Amino acid sequence: MAKNKFVYLFNEGDATMRNLLGGKGANLAEMTNIGLPVPQGFTITTEACTKYYEDGKIISDEIITQIMDSLAKLEKKVGKKFGDATNPLLVSVRSGARASMPGMMDTILNLGLNLSVVEGLAKLTNNERFAYDSYRRFIQMFSDVVMELPKSRFERLIDEVKEKKGVKLDNELDTNDLKQLVKKFLAFYKEELKVEFPQDPKVQLIEATKAVFRSWDNPRANVYRRMNDIPSSWGTAVNIQSMVFGNMGNDSGTGVAFTRNPSTGEKNLYGEYLMNAQGEDVVAGIRTPLAISELAVQNKALYDEFANIADKLEKHYRDMQDMEFTIEKGKLYMLQTRNGKRTAKAALQIAVDMVNEKMLTEEEAILKLEPKQLDALLHPTFEAAALKKAPVVGKALPASPGAACGKIAFSAEKAVANKKNKEKSILVRLETSPEDIEGMAASEGVLTARGGMTSHAAVVARGMGTTCVAGCHELTLDEKTKTCKIGDASFKEGDIISLDGSTGIIYGSAVKTETATLSGNFGTIMQWADKFRALEVRTNADTPKDAKTAYSFGAQGIGLCRTEHMFFDPERIPAVREMIVSSTVEERKAALKKLLPMQRKDFIGLYTEMKGNPVTIRFLDPPLHEFLPHTDVEIKDLAKEMGLTFEKLKATVEDLHEFNPMMGHRGLRLAVTYPEIAEMQTQAVIEAALEVKKNLGYNVKAEIMIPLTSDVKEFGYVHDIVKAKAEELIANSGTELEYSIGSMIETPRACVIAEKLAEKAKFFSFGTNDLTQMSYAFSRDDAGKFLGAYYEKKIFESDPFARLDTEGVGALVEIAVNKAKSVNPHIKLGICGEHGGDPSSIEFCHKAGLTYVSCSPYRVPIARLAAAQANLKFPRK
Ligand code: PEP
Ligand code: MG
Repeated sequence: MAKNKFVYLFNEGDATMRNLLGGKGANLAEMTNIGLPVPQGFTITTEACTKYYEDGKIISDEIITQIMDSLAKLEKKVGKKFGDATNPLLVSVRSGARASMPGMMDTILNLGLNLSVVEGLAKLTNNERFAYDSYRRFIQMFSDVVMELPKSRFERLIDEVKEKKGVKLDNELDTNDLKQLVKKFLAFYKEELKVEFPQDPKVQLIEATKAVFRSWDNPRANVYRRMNDIPSSWGTAVNIQSMVFGNMGNDSGTGVAFTRNPSTGEKNLYGEYLMNAQGEDVVAGIRTPLAISELAVQNKALYDEFANIADKLEKHYRDMQDMEFTIEKGKLYMLQTRNGKRTAKAALQIAVDMVNEKMLTEEEAILKLEPKQLDALLHPTFEAAALKKAPVVGKALPASPGAACGKIAFSAEKAVANKKNKEKSILVRLETSPEDIEGMAASEGVLTARGGMTSHAAVVARGMGTTCVAGCHELTLDEKTKTCKIGDASFKEGDIISLDGSTGIIYGSAVKTETATLSGNFGTIMQWADKFRALEVRTNADTPKDAKTAYSFGAQGIGLCRTEHMFFDPERIPAVREMIVSSTVEERKAALKKLLPMQRKDFIGLYTEMKGNPVTIRFLDPPLHEFLPHTDVEIKDLAKEMGLTFEKLKATVEDLHEFNPMMGHRGLRLAVTYPEIAEMQTQAVIEAALEVKKNLGYNVKAEIMIPLTSDVKEFGYVHDIVKAKAEELIANSGTELEYSIGSMIETPRACVIAEKLAEKAKFFSFGTNDLTQMSYAFSRDDAGKFLGAYYEKKIFESDPFARLDTEGVGALVEIAVNKAKSVNPHIKLGICGEHGGDPSSIEFCHKAGLTYVSCSPYRVPIARLAAAQANLKFPRK
């Protein structure tokens, strides 16, 4: 490719030049090359877009010269002239990034018209109405896209004319009405913007190009990119294409069609068209378009020609195509083609069908799927028709997918009570705390005002498969009056709202849902994925119920059981509190004795569900104050319950207060100060394993995981306590048991001394939630408050708690992996932070040489697919 070449005629490009020409540009070039009827044009490259921003939002003279050169060549090719009233060339100006971003950026049609060209066009086509209709559309689009004078303001002028005339539809306006409208539009433009509408087509072209470049940076494009992992550095290309007209009469028309049904995947041309119309009419919903099958009735030859092209394109790209076409006076033109967006259900159907049709290999089919999309198949979804009518009241982080609908409950107790009465709840909280867990489990969905994608609410909700929308800044709560406001809408406890956990949208009413069914295609795709992946996939599960769900989704073990989640159970919390407020080792041991049988029972449940697959149990991690009450009233109540004085309990609570609990007395530091806790947990793990092995015959593999390690002696101390207890119990049992002791790697220091830790630890599991928090030194619970500014200012493109920061945190992981393998080449290496369920992070884990990823149950299928894609892209030796 020539250096400094910023503009390519369609016949100068091809499908491989997607990065430079954008998806649309590369496809227009490719369609030109394979001989399809494409109105000719040229593409201004994505590099020109980058340069536009680098140069301070101007298009350099060099690029303008290249645009004008290409325009001259285009004029020659099509035998028309830009701005010439006797034989005018009109063009469309359309965005087109490397990845398709439907509807996110801008388009202008009919560019090149002015007061004299419109006259010429009318004469030339012998169709005055068409010429003026095209001009008024152009004025509207140019004003909207280039000058930010909204289209709707012009629609009002159209409505006035229609009203005066007593007609309803645009196409009932005659030539004189349209001429009058053009005048009104131009006058309105001048009145609003204090300048004349540009009459020089070359000025129109450059201004439109700049506007498309600018639209790359509009708010909705930015949000779309963040959701779809598209870097803002890519930029958009601009396609200048000679116009063909679907609004030249009843032998003209325009439409969009897919080669297969995008909602079901069914193999059938699917789409809509309108005669005597231009592009936006089909989507705008002003006139009702006809089904594409109707074209076969209206004009069989044309339909056949289109169906043939569709077939050719699908075979050429070996993917379902989404095409735009125009018919001008009976002749068919292809305006664009791209791989079509589709629902998860359709994606699986198409993948399986294309393999059966021998269009794709299994490997290729797997690579074409979007892992995150699988999620939609696992959770209930809202009915599409019902959604259209539902009132949107707010939007926040889509923290845990699903479609939930229920009565607002402001407390966990209320949600639990509702459940007892067989009523559905949406738990609405400022933020959730571990005590809310029961209420979360009893709710259909959780909505919080604070917190990010890895806040407590989000992590726990994803684990449970409960829908969650988190960090809703528009939400204000008044716990006293039991009311809340979301934006302008007011609600009281018991009012019904709905949450879409996949989009983060909050609806102010009930919305009908439909339950997910895992079809046969799902199983087929998972089987293929399993053949191709090198990474194992485990689950993060704290309860037998979670473990069972995950096992049914294909989890090959538990990679993280957070034991503290079990401590919040109302039956256990008294014993936990007793343990915390103990002033002697004896008192503490007595309390632990009460907890032992409960923990043992939990672990028996997990081993049973995992049927002999490895189960990693992480020892107590959170700061202890989390288990204690905080207000005087609560402390008084609890003191009474525990037979303590208020003063004694209050002193204990105050004693446990920490300024930075996340960096405080937590993790293995608890086991260093209270080794008896680690001993009790070891006993529960080992005894449960022995029992399940004996009773059910599973070859139980218990993995004991020590959290938050940062020092080799510190780890050694806890390791040796656990080991001594485990060996004693196994020896006394007289049987053999496979167990191992490993470390979580959650602090930068642990990464740097990994070769020392690996001498004792049998496995590592990267806790990338904490590792991210500790590396950046920003709190995972509070970062949501300022990360918004980081996205806006393009400092961050994604949430580092959701998508692993490979450059920094990832580098630490790599250091640890290499150091660990240098002393123990067979050390088992996993990840159990939230990143373990994120496809791009999974690709990183694969490349870094980890053994497994562990993620919440509902992400297990996503991880299986992402792991297969990673190995197909970067095969392990
Ligand atoms: C982590 O830090 O990544 C982790 C898995 O532990 P937790 O989220 O419980 O701190
Ligand atoms: Mg952690």
